[in-house]
Amino acid sequence: MSTTSPGRTDLRDGCRGLAPLTGRVEPWLADVAARPGDLAGWLDAHGSPLNVLDPGPMGRNARELQDAAATHGLELGIFFARKANKALALVDEAARLGLGIDVASERELRQVLDRGVDPSRIVLTAAVKPVSLLRLCVEARPTVALDNADELAALTSLLRPDGPPVPVALRLAPELGPDRPPTRFGLDVDAWLALVDRAWPAGGGGPSTGARVAGVHFHLDGYDAGERAVALGQALRLVDALRERGHDPSFVDVGGGIPMSYLDDRDEWDRFWDAHRAGLLGDGPALTFGGHGLGLGVHDGAITGSPNGYPYAQSPVRGAWLDGLLGTPVGPGGPTAGQALRGRGLELRCEPGRSLLDGCGATVARVAFRKRRADGTWLIGAEMNRTQCRTTSDDFLVDPLVVRPPGVAPAHDDEAAHDEIEGFLVGAYCIERELLTWRRLRFPRGVAVGDLVVFPNTAGYLMHILESASHQIPLAQNVVLGEGGEPTLDRIDRATG
Ligand SMILES: *Cc1c(COP(=O)(O)O)cnc(C)c1O
Repeated sequence: MSTTSPGRTDLRDGCRGLAPLTGRVEPWLADVAARPGDLAGWLDAHGSPLNVLDPGPMGRNARELQDAAATHGLELGIFFARKANKALALVDEAARLGLGIDVASERELRQVLDRGVDPSRIVLTAAVKPVSLLRLCVEARPTVALDNADELAALTSLLRPDGPPVPVALRLAPELGPDRPPTRFGLDVDAWLALVDRAWPAGGGGPSTGARVAGVHFHLDGYDAGERAVALGQALRLVDALRERGHDPSFVDVGGGIPMSYLDDRDEWDRFWDAHRAGLLGDGPALTFGGHGLGLGVHDGAITGSPNGYPYAQSPVRGAWLDGLLGTPVGPGGPTAGQALRGRGLELRCEPGRSLLDGCGATVARVAFRKRRADGTWLIGAEMNRTQCRTTSDDFLVDPLVVRPPGVAPAHDDEAAHDEIEGFLVGAYCIERELLTWRRLRFPRGVAVGDLVVFPNTAGYLMHILESASHQIPLAQNVVLGEGGEPTLDRIDRATG
């Protein structure tokens, strides 16, 4: 399924990786990239790079998950993990769609409350919860995902037994077998039951402690549906044991990590890694700067290691993935996950970040220079630094687009601006290895000063999770496309706060 409009394939002609990785381009982004003069004006107004957001695709992504749950007779509570992108337009869109919000800090929580989101539609999953954050939780009463005994004690010390109870979700640390190192998050089933028995000695029906066990939560890294089925089985065991003690948990929250694909063509992805391996072994052209392995290495003439990055082409994704999870038996010969949830009258919840933002943003930067290094290698400098399109993965493995605004008119004898060159995108930090992407890129029409580099599909994590303002270079601004395709500055960047 390609979302690129016909006749727009020329958008790709400005830049290709040596082994191309053709990212999906939403129709809104194809429209924007086809108006490079407007885009250049937006960068004049807001600086480079510029994060451009269109919340439109969020509804489509959410519906895909809801439809999959509905085929198993389940209502799905989607809580948008907003740490994946700080823009408030995305919070507003999630609220407009009737989704909840997953917040990871006090500021995230305050901002979401200020946007008018009802606390019953907020879950707090912050990895560390300072007292001031817990105090806000006691006041506002979002669902608090509890991680450990100290956190419960800190919360309990602030609670008023006579006030309305604060709903808590117990964060489960699933045991996934010997090949999987234990997670830092949550506690296992037995540890939770011991803790619950101490904290609620009279059980769920006893006098209020000021907190109420509302549900069970987990979040795993990775994207494996099988592991989540195992985790879900353990979550149901915890739910059953809590109900035996008189508690009334009403939901299981399976967290995020719902997979998405950036590329339509799985074969392209496989060809890229084959060519990269060949390049590392010296059996083909090197695809990366300085032989960067992207997680792979070479030892005694053989490839070692494994790719360190997001799987940019994967299947199944989103709806089909959730359908697969809900159709998986929990335990050998047991009911499916969907049946087990339904049989207990439990609500299924999830907290997608990246996969909900699929198609919702792009990052645009202006080319400042082209030069040749002493060995002849072309370096293309952009007004941007590498923290502005990067996650904890080694690289963003999607080809950028390069477009030329009408005002950019390089001289006829500026050959690099007219003829094909190959090289690397470098950024603004004063570091040798400041690469915007490690991949060697080909620019079939050349590159000129003032050309725009467009990284597609960066709304999920790539814009904000690592961004820094080192060298006193300001953070990128974030604009939201509204009616007529005109951008307005997102509220997160407006001075009032
Ligand atoms: C980061 C995070 C998410 C979102 O994960 P995605 O991979 O973006 O879907 C959800 N829940 C928790 C607790 C998280 O830490």
